[in-house]
Amino acid sequence: MTAMSSGRRLQVMFREVLSRAQRGGSKEQMRILIVEDETRIRAFLARAFEAEGFGVDVVGDGALGLARALAGKYDLVILDLLLPGLSGLDALRELHREKSDLPVLILSARSDLPIKLQSFELGAVDYVAKPFSLDELLARARVQLRRARVGDDGTMILRVGTLVLDLARRQARVGDKLADLSDREFRLLHFLMQNVGQVVSRERLLAEVWGYDFDPRSNVVDVCVRRLRGRLGPDAPIETVRNAGYRAAA
Ligand code: CA
Repeated sequence: MTAMSSGRRLQVMFREVLSRAQRGGSKEQMRILIVEDETRIRAFLARAFEAEGFGVDVVGDGALGLARALAGKYDLVILDLLLPGLSGLDALRELHREKSDLPVLILSARSDLPIKLQSFELGAVDYVAKPFSLDELLARARVQLRRARVGDDGTMILRVGTLVLDLARRQARVGDKLADLSDREFRLLHFLMQNVGQVVSRERLLAEVWGYDFDPRSNVVDVCVRRLRGRLGPDAPIETVRNAGYRAAA
């Protein structure tokens, strides 16, 4: 192997992705909210992420964390589970219901499988158990941030064939036709495009875009897709797969 440790390599990779992200399209700084009641860990994480060029806010209470996450503009939330005010799981549940496109990474001293599974079910995108490796946490955060904000070319844009989704403006374009989307339409299209080529069931879309509490017999997904097609025009690459769901396919 080379003289560079794997941890060091990850950090270098992380910086490269970050600087590519900053050069491409957006001059906006990526923002992370850290909800953690242990002062020492909170300060350590804030320093580490700031050193990587992120804007960082920290909160030590679950209820405050939820309020801040809902009100602010963040690209990632790092959430502890054992918190004063409101438990991390309750905060996660509410956050996923209100802002399902905001990725939440759980960072917790609990490492048993049931709590991990419950976290994923409530909408967490990743789970890191304490004690943790900073390099691993940074790498996992990087994956989420890249998924959320940065396309292959370093811009905040997703492309499927002629369909282009601008994540910052929440605007879609098919060829020259520009479409402003409602929050629901944007989230539905975003989810299909993130899973490009895959058939996504109505149930999955309901859960991801509307939340688990929605009646699975409802036809809101079909109605929303119809509206979306109306806005995007007949060339939009959104296919109906009979008895299965929908697919974004170039
Ligand atoms: Ca804690």
